[in-house]
Amino acid sequence: MEENKDPQNKKHIHPITRVIQDVVSILTELGFEVAQGPEIEDEHYNFDALNVPKDHPARDMHDTFWLKPLDLRKLLRTQTSDVQIRFMEKNKPPFRIVSPGKVFRNEATDSTHETQFHQVEGLTVGKDVSLAQLKGVLETVLKKLFGEDVQIRLRPGYFPFVEPGVEIDMICSKCNAKGCPSCGHNGWIEVLGAGMVNPKVLNGVGIDSREFQGFAFGIGVERLAMLKYGIDDVRLLYSGDLRFGEQF
Ligand SMILES: [Zn+2]
Repeated sequence: MEENKDPQNKKHIHPITRVIQDVVSILTELGFEVAQGPEIEDEHYNFDALNVPKDHPARDMHDTFWLKPLDLRKLLRTQTSDVQIRFMEKNKPPFRIVSPGKVFRNEATDSTHETQFHQVEGLTVGKDVSLAQLKGVLETVLKKLFGEDVQIRLRPGYFPFVEPGVEIDMICSKCNAKGCPSCGHNGWIEVLGAGMVNPKVLNGVGIDSREFQGFAFGIGVERLAMLKYGIDDVRLLYSGDLRFGEQF
């Protein structure tokens, strides 16, 4: 086949799109179905139904873009976990969903923070759902993205809508856990948050938590793209600079 020499004609898939496509396709193969929700969201779905009532300290961790006050308090969603609630209200378990989308935080921009970014949310609800299954799913996703040598570890973490909550770390491939500048001399790199769905959240959408359990995870797409492609400043992903895009 003749190589396409016209640079105007060369197609490049943006690293963010690539990571989203990869993660969604891996999870679809594992039986997850795609679900989506709105970017302009009600306070109820973004916070209250996820066990983050008004005055809850976890709200302060989400610097929220509130829209002009109307009758209902509307916001730009700060997380894709809103889709969990919308889906669970309408569907009976068992189910497995994956929900990719854009989220927004009203905070200063630097090399690791942007006011808009992407998450891929995963949720499984059924009988006998366990933390071991969660670990298995995330191990599969990260191995397919980063290679078979990937090792992960779970550390306790706090997110209001899961109990227990865990932070998932991936071994640093540059130093193999010895510690180096790439991993901030930790040997491990924090890649995502997850946990068992808080029974309060299940009961709130009418799913009996004595009968069903769930696990949920939220993958930061920009973070994975930066790790996978060795990008050191998140702002490059949004620069619109074609020279950046052409490297992928
Ligand atoms: Zn390292």
